[in-house]
Amino acid sequence: MPDDCLFCKIVAGEIPSTPVLDRENVYAFRDVAPAAPVHVLVVPKRHIGDVRDLQAADGDVLIEMFQAANEIAASEGIAETGYRVIFNVGRDAGQTVFHLHMHLVGGKPLGGVGPG
Ligand code: 5GP
Ligand code: ZN
Repeated sequence: MPDDCLFCKIVAGEIPSTPVLDRENVYAFRDVAPAAPVHVLVVPKRHIGDVRDLQAADGDVLIEMFQAANEIAASEGIAETGYRVIFNVGRDAGQTVFHLHMHLVGGKPLGGVGPG
């Protein structure tokens, strides 16, 4: 784990966060600057840089991230109204944290492509 990784520190509890779901390999917490009424970040506990670093061996944790998103959508009450899952990749997507994370965004109509 790189010692300067913000989300590794959040997973380790060194930086506080508001937990939404905690599983063996996946942690989910509320985004500090929410773009919608529901804005949750789902991360692997093990450091993975971003989508560009994914390997076949990461398949299990990716499925766990989507299963977590399904559970969170249900518990947040947006499974039926709908939501968006987003992986920002690189500069043009505005990625700022280089520890793999899924944004789960919903709770209002989101309009066109984008976090809303
Ligand atoms: P990215 O732009 O890299 O896809 O998303 C990073 C997200 O992390 C942003 O939505 C930003 O608001 C969120 N974020 C940045 N720092 C913190 C923090 O310290 N705590 C929490 N909960 N979210 C953060
Ligand atoms: Zn990390």
